[in-house]
Formats: sequence, C-alpha cells, structure tokens
Amino acid sequence: MSFFQRLFNKTTSTEYLVECPRCLGKGHVDLDDIKRLKNELKWIPGKCAYCNGVSKVKPEMITEVAANDAYLTINISKLERTLFINGNQAAIKRGEAHKEYVDLIIQNIKELYFVENLDIEEIAELYLQSIPEWDIKQKNELSSYIKKVIEHSSKSK
Ligand SMILES: [Zn+2]
Repeated sequence: MSFFQRLFNKTTSTEYLVECPRCLGKGHVDLDDIKRLKNELKWIPGKCAYCNGVSKVKPEMITEVAANDAYLTINISKLERTLFINGNQAAIKRGEAHKEYVDLIIQNIKELYFVENLDIEEIAELYLQSIPEWDIKQKNELSSYIKKVIEHSSKSK
C-alpha cells in the first residue's frame, strides 16, 4: 500500500461515522426514543447528548458507551461529557453514583406509595422537606414525576 493510500485509509477510518443509536440520526431524543431505550423515568426529550446533536458518532463510541446510558444527558457539562465518553475513571464513577441515586429515588417513591400507602401529595411533601425554600412550581414538577413513577411501575407489573 502506498503512503498516500495508507494516509487516505487512516483518514477515512477515523472520519467514518455511523448513525447515532440513541436518536437514530435526528440529533434530538423524543419520547419514542426514551421509551425504546427504557429511560422513561430518567430522561426528558431534548438534544441528543450521545452524538451531541450531530446525529452521527464514531463506531468506537457504540462499543464503549451504552446508547441508553442514563448519566450521559445534556444535564452534564461539556467537559464531563468528554471525560465520560473517553473512559475517565472519575467521570465513570460519578456516572455510576448518579444512576444509583436516581434508581434509589425511584425505588423509594414506589415503596412509599405501594408499601407505605402514602398518596402522591404526601410523597411530594416528604421530599420537599429537604428543600429549604420550595415553590408551587417545584411541587407540581415533583408531583408529576412521582405520578409518572407510579404509573410506570403499575404498567410494568
Ligand atoms: Zn444522537
């Protein structure tokens, strides 16, 4: 292989991109994507953080980072995204901690509702106790999230 051929092959292999498996090439994640990737309780629609809205990714990204990784959203900073997708150990640990925390909250809501028999309002008030100053908007957001968790778990039973 000539030098130029090799150079060309190298260039094409690093620039070869595939369709983003998270947003399927749309650049943003919608409710159907969220359902398909089983993150109904963890994501809201928005720009795709997997491909960063570009709609295509490097093939190695797919083997290294799960398309449905719950931590990799637009809520994390650009720097954190870069660290995370490049396998930085501290960023991966933060990702694990975040996922455990979210799973714990979901589990806790289910227990309060199905085991302790609290209603949505009571569960919301329990969580709001840990927030020094909350407003009605936060309470409504929290209540609708709790409702979503309950609806989702009664569907999957
Ligand atoms: Zn994408």
